[in-house]
Amino acid sequence: MIQNENTKKCEQCGKTLKGRTDKRFCDDSCRNVYNNQLKLQTSKQVRIINLILQKNRRILESLLSREEDTAKANREKLLKRGYQFMYHTHLYTTRTGRTYTYCYDYGYLPLDNDWFLIVRKKDE
Ligand SMILES: [Zn+2]
Repeated sequence: MIQNENTKKCEQCGKTLKGRTDKRFCDDSCRNVYNNQLKLQTSKQVRIINLILQKNRRILESLLSREEDTAKANREKLLKRGYQFMYHTHLYTTRTGRTYTYCYDYGYLPLDNDWFLIVRKKDE
């Protein structure tokens, strides 16, 4: 019995590949479709994360009125408005060792008992 070596399948259409075993696709068209879908999927993930970050920023913005430099809110209030603590754009640690978590230009500093100090990054 002869063992068929070519059991690899095209990663796009699933057809059995003939010839070189290092091939992943049957032709350029399958390769292009596959790569385009991959790109689309990546940008979908990026879009979802961007929306979460923008929502987080809006929530912080809504808690801090224009006349104030800082405001306080507790975790419950933030969660109720849909804040997702997992997502942030960057961290900032002061010389005194306090770390602010930012979503773009708005951020917070965790205080005691699940309270947060909401801050806005000032223009330099
Ligand atoms: Zn194919």
